[in-house]
Amino acid sequence: MRAVQYDRFGSMPVIVELPAPKAPADGVVVAVRATGVCRSDWHAWKGHDDSVALPHVPGHEFSGIVAAVGSDVSGFAVGDRVTAPFVFACGTCEQCRDGATQVCTRQQQPGFTLPGSYAESVVVPHADVNLVALPDEVGFAEAAGLGCRFGTAYHALHARGRVAAGEWVAVFGCGGVGLSTVLVAVAAGARVVAVDVSPAALERAAALGATTLQMGEDVTATVREVTGGGAHVSVDAYGSRATSVAAVDSLRPRGRHVQVGLLLDDEAAPAIPMGRVIADELELLGSHGIAVGEYAAMLDDVVAGRLRPAESIGSTIGFDDLPGALEAMDRPATGSGMTVAVF
Ligand SMILES: [Zn+2]
Ligand SMILES: [Zn+2]
Repeated sequence: MRAVQYDRFGSMPVIVELPAPKAPADGVVVAVRATGVCRSDWHAWKGHDDSVALPHVPGHEFSGIVAAVGSDVSGFAVGDRVTAPFVFACGTCEQCRDGATQVCTRQQQPGFTLPGSYAESVVVPHADVNLVALPDEVGFAEAAGLGCRFGTAYHALHARGRVAAGEWVAVFGCGGVGLSTVLVAVAAGARVVAVDVSPAALERAAALGATTLQMGEDVTATVREVTGGGAHVSVDAYGSRATSVAAVDSLRPRGRHVQVGLLLDDEAAPAIPMGRVIADELELLGSHGIAVGEYAAMLDDVVAGRLRPAESIGSTIGFDDLPGALEAMDRPATGSGMTVAVF
């Protein structure tokens, strides 16, 4: 099979021919039809992720068609249209038994601990636990982002932030996760204020229904003004000390902050105003991916047209464009929205 691979962290990824994978007894091989290009792929390529072994095939947000099935798999057959969350769960640990597969203590991740989906085929272990059947109405490109950015936004707002219609949601960072968060919040009947430094990203957030603000020193005061006292839910979809602190500071009393963006290296320890957390009974919530069990409700919303993940796609590329798309993240984004490779 053809796959995109790199031999050293930061060396230019190249397209290589690799042996086609076989299905493990409890797993399947998926013929990949679409894969998203994500900032996490770039971090892995740069060597920021200890779990990656070389040489490595990136890619963790994908959809495709089941091409081979292991002997112990009962729920899926060759030809099924499928996707999966980026956390492959074990199905048997305490968290999995509770339905919290997104924090499985024995999790594996394609494109990080396992070979990923920048390839013609990808293996999904524990397929009866991890695979999600795609309704015919959901296309491969829009499904590709459901397991990472869109699903992450859905889990963050619903399972973690407990967003309700009429509430104000403040979204910091309007990249793939941020724009997905705007879409999910608007679909939930929430009012949204979106913050970013990039005029192009803000323009896109505005088109999706958000009130937009330029990130700057007094942004939290403006958010509190726009929302009549502060947001009910804040989401840091970017991941920095500045955005996480500003997001917490934008909340009204009893507001819920959901941290989605990864806080890496120098950004790892934000000065969260704990005095306000106590005095105003704010909630600080982490969010990591999406549980397999949450897909049914999310896909119902997609089929019904309430959620439109296709609107978070900025550009569609081909398989041969994947190495260049990864390398392009060395520089600031020129467009906005997700890049998805379709093949
Ligand atoms: Zn991703
Ligand atoms: Zn588990």
